[in-house]
Amino acid sequence: MKAILTDTTLCIGCRDCVVACRQANTLEPEVPRRWETRDGLSARNWTSVVERPNHVYVRKQCRHCLDPACASACPVGALRKTSEGAVIYDSSKCMGCRYCMMACPYGIPRYDWDRPVPYVRKCILCYGRIKQGKPPACTEACPTKATIFGDRDTLLQEAHRRLHDNPKRYAGKVWGESEVGGTSVLYISDANLTFLTRGRELGDNTIPGRTASAMHAVPFAFVGMAATMSGISWIISRRMDLQPKIPKEKPEDQKDKRDE
Ligand code: SF4
Ligand code: SF4
Ligand code: SF4
Repeated sequence: MKAILTDTTLCIGCRDCVVACRQANTLEPEVPRRWETRDGLSARNWTSVVERPNHVYVRKQCRHCLDPACASACPVGALRKTSEGAVIYDSSKCMGCRYCMMACPYGIPRYDWDRPVPYVRKCILCYGRIKQGKPPACTEACPTKATIFGDRDTLLQEAHRRLHDNPKRYAGKVWGESEVGGTSVLYISDANLTFLTRGRELGDNTIPGRTASAMHAVPFAFVGMAATMSGISWIISRRMDLQPKIPKEKPEDQKDKRDE
């Protein structure tokens, strides 16, 4: 399985990766809007470089989770994890419900508000390119090799080698190695990257694994609700049956009343 390793200590914030992504995926230009996302991601910008204190630059993109919450939340199967590592989507299936946006722990998918029929958009790990044996455009464009592409196992070894060789340079952790069950986009950094999850530690269990028991309970909840509603309906009809019958007025009676 393929992956990306981003070493933020090597990133100079040039944003060549952002430009390369826009070109490779023929993303339409951004339009002026009243609001701006703080991280720079949008339906038309699938990667961004977030500047942190002390000139730390962190490239943000979809993490391509090994067990993606977005895919498990999608009711029509528009998102799926491929064997190559990319989490891709089929916009012809997407019905625009935005469940994937609510489910993603990293806040990645964005809605294309500027289209009359909007869909969700996000980084697809340059799936077309990696199927042809090419690296993602962003990794190819990076002049400092701050973001590199390869086999996930090899990149994990490389990340641990750097941590071992330079323990003072890094925060001592490979982000994405086991977080939410592991991701195909890994980070090493001298900064704390929990800002990418608004300060939340996500833990190692997959999000779909955590919600599975609740989701399995949903059909039973519906059955219980249906039984309750049927009971209420029976009580109401029974009460209506027991009410004294008031004879219906004949049309000529109504006419008489109007003449009075
Ligand atoms: S980071 Fe979010 S959008 Fe990307 S694969 Fe994981 S859950 Fe899906
Ligand atoms: S992997 Fe491809 S789609 Fe994803 S950010 Fe890089 S260039 Fe863009
Ligand atoms: S191209 Fe490389 S160095 Fe430049 S902003 Fe992107 S990740 Fe950083």
